[in-house]
Amino acid sequence: MNARIMIDLTAVHPVTNGRWHRVANLHRMPRPGEQLIMMCGESEPAEFVAAGPIIETAPTTCWRCDLAYRRAAGIPVRPDHPALPVPRPRPHA
Ligand SMILES: [Zn+2]
Repeated sequence: MNARIMIDLTAVHPVTNGRWHRVANLHRMPRPGEQLIMMCGESEPAEFVAAGPIIETAPTTCWRCDLAYRRAAGIPVRPDHPALPVPRPRPHA
């Protein structure tokens, strides 16, 4: 009998360049080397490492993925969300 390791696919967040991302519609674990397309549009091959002592610094949020995820899930987006463009002041008439 095998010891199954159960993984919540909604909690799988690829990390690249110190930022954690989201992958839309992940229906199975990616295979090592399989190209992952993140919701922000970045694309990298999958690699697996153990969390914990290997991680030297905590990854930060990819705000573009967060914005895309919120929009896809119907979650309200605050007007000051970091991935939204900064509104320019209107010129005075
Ligand atoms: Zn991202």
